[in-house]
Amino acid sequence: MNEMQIPRRNNLDAFWMPYSDNKYFKSTPRMLARAEGMSYFTPEGQEILDGTAGLWCCNAGHGRREIVEAIQKQAAVMDFAPTFQLGHPIAFEAAARVAEITPEGMDRVFFVNSGSEAADTALKIALAYHKARGESQRVRLVGRERGYHGVGFGGMSVGGIGGNRKQFGAQLPYVDHLPHTHLPAQNAFAKGQPEHGEHLADVLENLVALHGDTIAAVMVEPVAGSTGVLVPPKGYLEKLRKICTKHGILLIFDEVITGFGRIGTNFGSERLGVTPDIMTMAKGLTNAAVPMGAVATSNEVYSTIVDGMPSGIELFHGYTYSGHPLASAAAIATMELHRAEDLPGRARTMEPYFEEAAHALRGTPGVIDVRNMGLIAGIELEPRTGKPGARAMEVFRTCFDEGVLVRVTGDIVALSPPLIMERPHVDRIFGTLADAIRAVPA
Ligand code: PLP
Repeated sequence: MNEMQIPRRNNLDAFWMPYSDNKYFKSTPRMLARAEGMSYFTPEGQEILDGTAGLWCCNAGHGRREIVEAIQKQAAVMDFAPTFQLGHPIAFEAAARVAEITPEGMDRVFFVNSGSEAADTALKIALAYHKARGESQRVRLVGRERGYHGVGFGGMSVGGIGGNRKQFGAQLPYVDHLPHTHLPAQNAFAKGQPEHGEHLADVLENLVALHGDTIAAVMVEPVAGSTGVLVPPKGYLEKLRKICTKHGILLIFDEVITGFGRIGTNFGSERLGVTPDIMTMAKGLTNAAVPMGAVATSNEVYSTIVDGMPSGIELFHGYTYSGHPLASAAAIATMELHRAEDLPGRARTMEPYFEEAAHALRGTPGVIDVRNMGLIAGIELEPRTGKPGARAMEVFRTCFDEGVLVRVTGDIVALSPPLIMERPHVDRIFGTLADAIRAVPA
């Protein structure tokens, strides 16, 4: 068939877009065609300042030459090689580079392709760990309301977002949830960690009282991002850690957003002073140039599973693309940028200015809360009566049309700009956002 005979369809039809209002988008497409530094560009050439680092992921900014060249070079040397019972040096090097910045004693790195795969992998490792220790009764998983751990069955079930679950019927069995930590009456407009809410960790003691020694792991995000930037109250994570240790429960931190400098340290655990047993990561690991995620575990978790097996495969888990050469090359180049440019340090330096700009929105009509940590901020709007989310969605569209990319979740505007941001970018992002909030009807 020559090309002229191929029936032409609207070329937006075929792509079923993820987490999108497909019908609305296809009637009013907003496209991004190019990216460089702090900005995207539309196909028409309009510059869109990136207030969200893509989807919380391009921490080093866009189009970084060092990462592009590393991927190109690796593609020419070896496109793919399996890591099942074989190895290729670059995957080992990538893991070693990641282990250089994980918390001390968390030096074992399992590669996956996304945050969702990282979540499910972490949960499976936790179950395998207890089994290897002879505690196979530990099958319960504990998540938290408003937690987001991706879209696999494990992450969805342990995650605590009703909207993400209701279309899909049955979830994983034996899952409980801690309460979320959002206490607006006590903590609205808190800067950094709020004062109130440490006691919410005590609910884990109640679950232990109920379920005894059947709980395998607790999984939380150090700072919950996708549900609107919920910063852990002072003392809360410390308490969770204490209760987990006391009862032999593994603590898993989902660092998919908080990893790689986002809150001013290599990982959120460092900033918040609490070390988990297992942590997940993705996004900033490769600056999002190639999909990749990872799970880092304590040496104890690793050796219990791996050294505990006499011989043969120790963990019946893995993906065709675990440690993919192009992703590994991108990760190594990203880790080099992370170190050479001190991306966590840049976030720390910019945080006070960013925080002030975010909290300057207090008093803007309709703004009912502002929350922040590192280079993450959430601005909560009073929802439109009877139409939750509609107001923030209009703010998002208005900002985009004015040349600034923000993200919305419900009626919360979330910001997570690249860590290379300068003060004029902060001014532009918040200036445009303030104008949009004022312009959009209540
Ligand atoms: N975990 C957290 C905390 C996330 O924010 C996300 C995505 O935003 C995920 C997991 C899922 O990652 P992915 O979309 O790469 O599967």
